[in-house]
Amino acid sequence: MAKRAHIPKSVLILGDQLDHEHPALVRAQAAQTRVLMIESEAFLSGRRWHRQRLHLVLSAMRHYAAELRAQGFEVDYRRAASFGAGLAEHRKQFKPERILGAEPMSHGMRRALLTLGVELLRHDRFMCHYSDFSVWAKRQRVLRMDAFYRMRRHATGYLMDADKPIGGAFSFDTENREPASRAPARWPVALRDDLDAIDEAVLRELPTQAFGAEPDGAWATTRKGALRRLAHFISHTLPGFGPYQDVMLQRSWNMSHSLLSPYLNLGLLHPREVCDAIAVAYENGSVPLASAEGCLRQILGWREYIWGTYWHFGVEYGSSNTLQAERPLLPLYEDPGRTRMQCVKDALKSIEEHAYAHHIQRLMLLGNLSLLAGVRPLELARYMQVSFIDGGEWVMWPNVLGMATYADGGRMSTKPYAAGGAYIHRMSDACGRCVYRPGERVGERACPFTTLYWSFFARHRQRFADHPRVRNIVRGLERLKDQHETLAHAEHVLKGLSEGTV
Ligand code: SF4
Repeated sequence: MAKRAHIPKSVLILGDQLDHEHPALVRAQAAQTRVLMIESEAFLSGRRWHRQRLHLVLSAMRHYAAELRAQGFEVDYRRAASFGAGLAEHRKQFKPERILGAEPMSHGMRRALLTLGVELLRHDRFMCHYSDFSVWAKRQRVLRMDAFYRMRRHATGYLMDADKPIGGAFSFDTENREPASRAPARWPVALRDDLDAIDEAVLRELPTQAFGAEPDGAWATTRKGALRRLAHFISHTLPGFGPYQDVMLQRSWNMSHSLLSPYLNLGLLHPREVCDAIAVAYENGSVPLASAEGCLRQILGWREYIWGTYWHFGVEYGSSNTLQAERPLLPLYEDPGRTRMQCVKDALKSIEEHAYAHHIQRLMLLGNLSLLAGVRPLELARYMQVSFIDGGEWVMWPNVLGMATYADGGRMSTKPYAAGGAYIHRMSDACGRCVYRPGERVGERACPFTTLYWSFFARHRQRFADHPRVRNIVRGLERLKDQHETLAHAEHVLKGLSEGTV
């Protein structure tokens, strides 16, 4: 057999860089390039991952490797004790002169790759590179998503008429706050595919400590499947996206949510493809402006803003804990049987079955509960990272430490997102099935959210007494006739949450 010529260059592809146009591969010649992909045992067994999350990442990696082989690339796909060990074994076996990679998705991986001698290429996985975000951020007095989103609308021209937003406003969010009581009975059904041979093989190899239901084909493991889901979302789901995007319903786990975030986060879709499709659907008249704008704001606004803030704030952002929240992660998060709160049970069931809860369940139930109970913010971020199909440090740090738990002291949001049972009652269908009553703050049937809402502001009354957006709540606390009983009951609730009995 003829000896294969030495291939001088290796390209490292990470599990969340399964890009259609990977920067190290777009102009690469297959004969001159060997691809390296590593499954790290330390990564797989280092945490208790949701089964569907691990399955998606591993299966998408193996499908991606198969597609590269079909294009003529030689792929060194290996399982190793650790990522560094895999890289060392590759170097020893193939002796590449250079190993190229793309800018990774986390501080830790960036540090590791540079230490391991991988050359990093600029990676335009987002429409606003984080270096450009930082240039913009340094010009702001305070960082706010709205200002970033407007800047990006101007820069990209999406839903713009020259320099004016179509419809006369940049946001139609006020039209997107319909309550649960008005929500339709029927919702779009998520697409599903049969598992193929690669999917089945990955399923058999998952670590035994993984938790959650087995994959049922809802999450696509190829770019082709991701593109089909994008088309399905645009034609079936997007028209109803707007009005009920903040509602939580037992009868539909996906409602009108796009379910595209895992593909965006793994590189199977590029955000520009999604924004283009939204704009075209609006121009064709197939979706109302409020729905098109609401979804565009999630992708072009929030998602890119979160990415930018993660890098702009740096690695020390991960230790933010302004409110000095020191309670360990509540047992209910990892054992849904340990709560009687119906709204929380519904969200945890969705996570168990689909590795998914939508943004309001994350923010106003799981995040809100941790904020009110004073749970260590980083523990909640880590829980979400391993439990959600689209988890990643870059997305969880700003969302959890910034938005959900106010751990960063307001660097990226204008107020703590604290809510009692009244808000959840309006936006969900859970309270009618619950042992608690949303309007009660004292007694056995008192809603834990309602009780803890007041004790949260009592604990932090000094910090928020002059805060323009929540000082009225602090004043309201002082007017509560049963303040003493409410705060005493809150201690009982906090104890019960730590013991898993509430
Ligand atoms: Fe949730 Fe409270 Fe409503 Fe029960 S009563 S579902 S705990 S908000």
